[in-house]
Amino acid sequence: RQAQYRRLRNLPAVTRDGVEVTLSMNAGMLADMPHLRESGAAGVGLFRTEVLFMLSPTLPRPREQEQLYRKIYEEAEGRPVSFRSLDVGGDKVLPYLRTMEEENPAMGWRAIRLGLDRPGLLRSQIRALLKASAGRELKLMFPMVTTVDEFNASRALVDRERRFLHQHGYQLPDTLKLGVMLETPSLLFELEELLAVVDFVSVGTNDLYQFAMAADRSNVRVAGRFDTLSQSFVRILKRIADACREANVPVTVCGDLASRPLEALCLMGIGYTELSMPPAAIGPVKTAIRATDLGRLRARLWPRLEPGRGSDDIRHLLSRFADAH
Ligand code: PEP
Ligand code: MG
Repeated sequence: RQAQYRRLRNLPAVTRDGVEVTLSMNAGMLADMPHLRESGAAGVGLFRTEVLFMLSPTLPRPREQEQLYRKIYEEAEGRPVSFRSLDVGGDKVLPYLRTMEEENPAMGWRAIRLGLDRPGLLRSQIRALLKASAGRELKLMFPMVTTVDEFNASRALVDRERRFLHQHGYQLPDTLKLGVMLETPSLLFELEELLAVVDFVSVGTNDLYQFAMAADRSNVRVAGRFDTLSQSFVRILKRIADACREANVPVTVCGDLASRPLEALCLMGIGYTELSMPPAAIGPVKTAIRATDLGRLRARLWPRLEPGRGSDDIRHLLSRFADAH
């Protein structure tokens, strides 16, 4: 199998009927970067910047952050990288950052909430990212955004840092793209407004699923209780894909869902053409994509998503389709 996946490395992830899918990888450390070439990933679809902060005994200095981001660009050799601003708090604890005891940490003071309440931390990270991406493209997304206002407030911080660096003679990124991780259900009801202001969207299915199903992703009793390919969740994902296509806003799925071949087929079936996953998943997902006729898959899948078909088993349908093809 490994040899087979290696042979696929330089081949495109294209369906039998000619639809190309971009497969990127998730990363969080410099040590992840050699996988870019080994896996044939198109770029880094999610760079989890909190990993440096979690591995460090003290708050990483701005200089250290900047150096890491610069090395990531160098290792990416011109491929696109989407950095995610700090996603700490909740279960991702930093020993040197004092927070309070929380009864529901996943829904608590974490990610962009913490960033906006302690803007010093977020601003220094943004500054490090802007400096490291001088003369390049900076793609930056914010985690756990729950309202459009939170995105606007985050963007205001970026603008402020950009002005500051410009005034002090620093070179800025050539292009700057700001996006959100779509991982709270509230944004589904503010999608139009959101898509009018963001440059791109990345769907964090791990959190979106946990909040949509009210099922704690770290509690083994409930994490797998509902199928990730249940009618309701697939409809949510399709609605996002449809809205992004209509608004012409690029969208990637970077949650674990994208890393499983059957789920990846489902995502393609409902309109996603950019997926990001751990590098080891790229071979298996690419194999599934290259064996699939997307037109046929859609002809089977779409009627099942119509109203009134609520109890149909999408996973079963997809696995039968995959077996037959
Ligand atoms: C997600 O929530 O799907 C995601 C990609 O982010 P994380 O798993 O780091 O919360
Ligand atoms: Mg998340």
